[in-house]
Amino acid sequence: MSGAPSEPVLISEVQARVARELDRLAPVIDPLGRRFAEAGHTLALVGGPVRDAMLGRAGNDLDFTTSARPEETERLLRGLTGALWDMGRDFGTIGAQIDGWQVEITTYRSESYDPTSRKPEVNFGDSLVGDLSRRDFTVNAMALTVPERGFEDPFGGLVDLANRVLRTPGTPEQSFSDDPLRMMRAARFAAQLGFTPAPEVVAAMTDMAGRIEIISAERVRDELVKLVSAPWPRRGLELLVETGLAAYVLPELPALRLERDEHNRHKDVYEHTLTVLEQAIDLERSRHGEDAEPDFVGRFAALMHDVGKPKTRRFVDDGTVTFHHHDVVGAKITRKRMKALRFSNDQVDAVSKLVELHLRFHGYGSGEWTDSAVRRYVRDAGDQLERLHILTRADCTTRNKRKADRLRRTYDDLETRIERLSEEEELAAIRPDLDGAQIMEILGIPPGRDVGRAYKFLLELRMDHGPQSEDAARDALLAWWPGED
Ligand code: ATP
Ligand code: MG
Repeated sequence: MSGAPSEPVLISEVQARVARELDRLAPVIDPLGRRFAEAGHTLALVGGPVRDAMLGRAGNDLDFTTSARPEETERLLRGLTGALWDMGRDFGTIGAQIDGWQVEITTYRSESYDPTSRKPEVNFGDSLVGDLSRRDFTVNAMALTVPERGFEDPFGGLVDLANRVLRTPGTPEQSFSDDPLRMMRAARFAAQLGFTPAPEVVAAMTDMAGRIEIISAERVRDELVKLVSAPWPRRGLELLVETGLAAYVLPELPALRLERDEHNRHKDVYEHTLTVLEQAIDLERSRHGEDAEPDFVGRFAALMHDVGKPKTRRFVDDGTVTFHHHDVVGAKITRKRMKALRFSNDQVDAVSKLVELHLRFHGYGSGEWTDSAVRRYVRDAGDQLERLHILTRADCTTRNKRKADRLRRTYDDLETRIERLSEEEELAAIRPDLDGAQIMEILGIPPGRDVGRAYKFLLELRMDHGPQSEDAARDALLAWWPGED
């Protein structure tokens, strides 16, 4: 997979993109802006949509910030749409669906923080700049007032965006101490946007990594999911590992950096894992299309597939290293970690099943499996079969091209056999349109050889013509009877 972008963004290109994006947004943002302006309020598009307009990443989520208090926002929105939600009201947010756009309007914030609490306390503020100063990164702290389209960028977000840099509006120490989740968000945006955190951001993350422990598992999980589902997860994961954050949120990952043995014999499992993840993403795209939704479960399984290795590593006398049962041990470790991160049972089951099965194919040799071994593979993988295909194929990082080609062809062979078998089995599952009891009743015959012959006749009929109504099958059966041997 290609690396994240590193070239600076051209300002002329940014201007052109923003102009195009504003044309697209005008039908929704202009009437909304006029409505708030008429009521004496400021309304500004803010954060993600402003940043993404500049990067040419079009979305349908429109976040706004406003001087209006939530009750006022709600009143103003009611005149425009009936589809409102207010789950975020305590945090100042009223949501609305307007012509297919997801609109969220939040009252200016001026939080005060209790450094020991998990969630920032909410206080409403009274200035746009004050609101922007409390945001996580400068590229997320730009706003566009509507309908007049005044660009507010008090912290140099545009320059940072052009240089693809993540910087905090204030000092990173203050920012991360106010809300340690922002350290996870830095890694997430590195993975999502391909941006590089400024050196002082990395330094603060490194010094303050342990603070992430006051954040709830659910909030950490949500950022981790976004990171892994992003286009360049390697960037975000490496940042988590290098700063020491991973030791708190996903300790199994840094643990893969096994020291090499004295002969420098076994490969670096950590590097291997990141490559497997990237290869899994490539396969996801080539098999499901460029526009397919990112598959978090499959990707997370790629990330966790070898986590059983550190615990199962044994040095053998002949100088080799073994990792017996690292699949089973890894599945257990994966289950435990995902439960701690409060993943759903379905996700825990799916990922740990994939980890447990990731080695099974290696018993296939060059195609020696019996049909029943192939069937068992399919049955054990169940609804995770497609993901298992991707994981097993991705789990080959040898530089030896002949070896890699051979593995790919052998897996092609297994997939072909699975297809052929499942076609055959579906055929085998086909039943005639009438069962034995119906045949005996229609023909007025007792159990015996004739029932078997009639059954076979109806099965042939079913194969030739596909399913028929009971009446048509009865007519055909009577026309055939007594049937020649
Ligand atoms: P996306 O929606 O694509 O995930 P986003 O930038 O919109 O990206 P959100 O998590 O939706 O990210 O947050 C919306 C905006 O709110 C951000 O752009 C940022 O300005 C601000 N924000 C969100 N979470 C925090 C936080 N923990 N600390 C400070 N500001 C935040
Ligand atoms: Mg958003």
